[in-house]
Amino acid sequence: MRFHQAESAFFVFIAVVLAAGVTTLHAYGVLQMLAANPLGDDIAYLARLLFAIGVLLATAIFFGAFFIYPLIRQQVQEEGKLRAMTETLSARSVTLEHAALTDGLTGMQNRRFFDEALREYLAAFGPIERPVGLMIIDLDHFKAINDTHGHDIGDKVLKEVSSCLRELTRYHDVVARLGGEEFAIVAANLNDAGLIAFAERIRKAVSSLVVINGNIRLKVTASVGLAVWDGKESADDLYRRADKRLYQAKGLGRNRVCA
Ligand code: GH3
Ligand code: MG
Ligand code: MG
Repeated sequence: MRFHQAESAFFVFIAVVLAAGVTTLHAYGVLQMLAANPLGDDIAYLARLLFAIGVLLATAIFFGAFFIYPLIRQQVQEEGKLRAMTETLSARSVTLEHAALTDGLTGMQNRRFFDEALREYLAAFGPIERPVGLMIIDLDHFKAINDTHGHDIGDKVLKEVSSCLRELTRYHDVVARLGGEEFAIVAANLNDAGLIAFAERIRKAVSSLVVINGNIRLKVTASVGLAVWDGKESADDLYRRADKRLYQAKGLGRNRVCA
């Protein structure tokens, strides 16, 4: 077995202290003897013993102060550095994880989060036979907003739409920006009629948003495609059905909900 430097120094320290203890005991025995039978030689011997104790104790203090304490100090500092490093690393990994699942522009969940969440919702709601509704929302003629008012104003519109979606949804709904001007909501526990009413509320709220660009008051509308999970299909198939309805809403003139 190999000992750490601090352990070896500590063993030496203990050995010196033990030796000082044994010497003290021995000196005490001599003192007892002297009390019964005082002799000059014994006094000189006792003085040597006391001197030896002094040397041993001084050695112990020297060892403690110059070998053991610096080692302990070094260890404490290294541990502190290590702890700080671990904390920084774990904070960084939390930030990275957050960044990987969040949309940079709007702060909403991103496509990756949405894909995982949809699969998880289906797995969780399948066994308890509760409905899971999917809503895909695409802003209408958004390219024209960018082209007319500039990309920054387009970004502003996207941010306002995302706050509007956040306000209208509840804690357990999944709300994500899938990319560009397309958003999705996974709403559990709503039947067909409930989901349509919810989508209509969202469509109306988006159409009543006003984004200010200087003295221009900008309006935007959205088309919405809906699908309620049939309890068997995959997440991809559910998505495809909702996307078809969205396409239909676009074809029918936009600013509408198709289920
Ligand atoms: P439709 O009604 O058919 O959906 O027409 P649209 O113009 O909304 O759809 P299209 O797919 O033709 O254009 C989407 C535009 O969204 C084009 C692209 O420049 C813009 N876009 C995508 N991502 C961003 C973004 O992060 N910021 C801004 N400002 N624009 C974006
Ligand atoms: Mg669009
Ligand atoms: Mg689009």
